[in-house]
Amino acid sequence: MAKYVFVTGGVTSSLGKGIIAASLAKLLQARGFKVTIQKLDPYINVDPGTLNPYEHGECYVTDDGAETDLDLGHYERFLSTPTSQANNVTTGRIYQYVINKEREGAYLGKTVQVIPHITDEIKRRITLLAQNNEYDIIITEIGGTVGDIESLPYIESIRPLQWELGDENCIIVHLTLIPYLKAAKELKTKPTQHSVKLMSENGLSPDIIVCRTEEPLNADIKRKIALFCNVKQDAVIEAADAETIYDVPLHMMRENLDAICLEKLELPLRNEPDLKNWKSFLNKLKHPKTKVVVGLVGKYVELQDAYKSILEAFVHAGAVNECKVEVRNIHSEEIEKGNIRSLLSGLDGILVAPGFGNRGIEGKIAAIQYAREQKIPFFGICLGMQCSVIEFARNVLGYSTANSTEMDKHTPYPVIDIMEDQKNIIQMGGTMRLGAYECELSLDSKAYEVYGKQYISERHRHRWEFNNNFLEAFEKAGMKATGRNPKTGLVEVVEIPEHPYFIGTQYHPELKSTVENPHPLFVGFIQAAMRYAASKKSPVTAQTAESL
Ligand code: GLN
Repeated sequence: MAKYVFVTGGVTSSLGKGIIAASLAKLLQARGFKVTIQKLDPYINVDPGTLNPYEHGECYVTDDGAETDLDLGHYERFLSTPTSQANNVTTGRIYQYVINKEREGAYLGKTVQVIPHITDEIKRRITLLAQNNEYDIIITEIGGTVGDIESLPYIESIRPLQWELGDENCIIVHLTLIPYLKAAKELKTKPTQHSVKLMSENGLSPDIIVCRTEEPLNADIKRKIALFCNVKQDAVIEAADAETIYDVPLHMMRENLDAICLEKLELPLRNEPDLKNWKSFLNKLKHPKTKVVVGLVGKYVELQDAYKSILEAFVHAGAVNECKVEVRNIHSEEIEKGNIRSLLSGLDGILVAPGFGNRGIEGKIAAIQYAREQKIPFFGICLGMQCSVIEFARNVLGYSTANSTEMDKHTPYPVIDIMEDQKNIIQMGGTMRLGAYECELSLDSKAYEVYGKQYISERHRHRWEFNNNFLEAFEKAGMKATGRNPKTGLVEVVEIPEHPYFIGTQYHPELKSTVENPHPLFVGFIQAAMRYAASKKSPVTAQTAESL
C-alpha cells in the first residue's frame, strides 16, 4: 500500500513548496523508495494551458500531453522520472468532471455539493496514483496558502483521507515562513502559529513544520515552534535560503527531513540516501572551469518563470561541461528598436525561445539572422525554430514576404503553416499538438551526433509546423530537415550544416533535461558556445576546445 505525504503552505505564497516536495522525494528515492509527486492547484482553469506566462510562468508539458504547472518540471528534474496527466489536478478539472457526471445523471437525483461530491472527487484523484501499486510514497503538494478560500476543499479532503488511512500512512508537512525583523534582531514565530491554528480549525495538524528562514533557527526558536504548533522539536526543520535549488535536498538531509518522514510513516530507513551523482553534479556546478555567455531571446524575459525549463536545462548542461553559463536576457522587442549589435555583442551562443503571436517576432528573426551570418552557435526552440525558417526564407531564399500564417494569414510564402488537423479547431484549451512524438534523425546530422541515436522521442506544444511544400527549396539552399516524424513526415529538426552549430527544433527539448540526464541538445549547444568563446580568445585554445 502506498503512503501519503501532503505538503501544505502557510503565511505566504512563493516559499518553494515545489522545491521542498521535490527535495524530499529525491531523498526518499535515493534511499530506494519509489516516489511520485502530485500537485493540486486551486484555480478554476481546467489546466494552465490557456494561462498567459505573466499569470503562471511556464506551462510544463508531460509525455502524455498534459499542460501542467511548472512545479512538475522541478519534480522531473529532481527525480528523472516522468510525470503524467494524473500528477497535476486543478479545481477546474475537478468541477468539470463532477458537473459532467451530474449532466449524465450519475448522482441519481441528489443535490450535488462541495462536500461530499467535490471532496470525494479530490480524494479519488489523490488515490488514483496508488492504483497500479507503482509507488511506495505519494507526495501531494497543495497549491496556494492555508486560509485561502479556494484551498478549503483540498484541506477538507485530506482530513477524512487521513482518518481513513490512519496517521501512520498519511502525514502532513507544512511549509511556513519565519520572518526576521532586522530592527528587533529577532525571528518571529507568530505567523506560523497562526497558520497552524488556521489548519487546526479545519481539522488538520501538521506532523512536520519546514521553516523558510533567512537566519538560522536556534534551539529556542525550534522549541517554541514545536510547543505552540504541537509537533516534536526534531520535526521543526530549518530551510535556510540556498545558493541553488539543487542544494535543497542536501539541506533537507542535514535536517533529517526524510528520516523523520519515514519514521512517522512507519517505514524502514533502508540505506543512507545515495546522492553520488547529485553531489558530483553540484560539485561541477559550483566549480566551473570556463564560462560562456548565452543570449536568451524572448518576449517574456523579464519574467524568469516563463522560461524555467530552458534556464534549468542551461544549468544542467553547464555543469556537465564544467562551464558557467551566464544567461543574458534579451527582449525581442528591444532588438526591433534597432540596436541589435549592442544587444547581441559578446554572446557565445543565442537561443531563441518558444512563444505565441506576433509581438517581438521581428526581433527574434533579426537575432537569428545575426547568429547565422556571424556564425554564432544558435538554438531555436518551437517558435524559435519557426523563426529560423522564416529568416532563412527571407534572407537566403529571397522570399522577402515569407512568414508563418500565425503572424500573416495571407503571406505568399507560408513557410510555416497551421497543421492540417488544427485547421478546424475552435476551442483553445488542450487542443494543440501536445506531448511526446517519435522523431527520426538523419545519420549525417549534428542532431544525430549529439543525441548519439537515430530515434528519439520529444515533447510538443504547438499548432504550426514547417510547410513541406517548401522543403526542396530549403534543402537546396542549405537548410536541412534533419529530424522528421516517421509517421507523418512533419519536420521536427532543421539545421544549417555549413554553420558551426545551427539547430532548430519544433519540439521542446528543455522539458526533458534533468540533473542526472542533461539534454544532449543543450549539452551540444554549450559545447559549441565554449568552442566559439575559445576561438575568440586564441585560435590554439579553439583547437583544443574542438576536441570537447
Ligand atoms: N506559436 C507557435 C505554434 O503554435 C509556436 C508554439 C511554441 O513555441 N510553443 O506553432
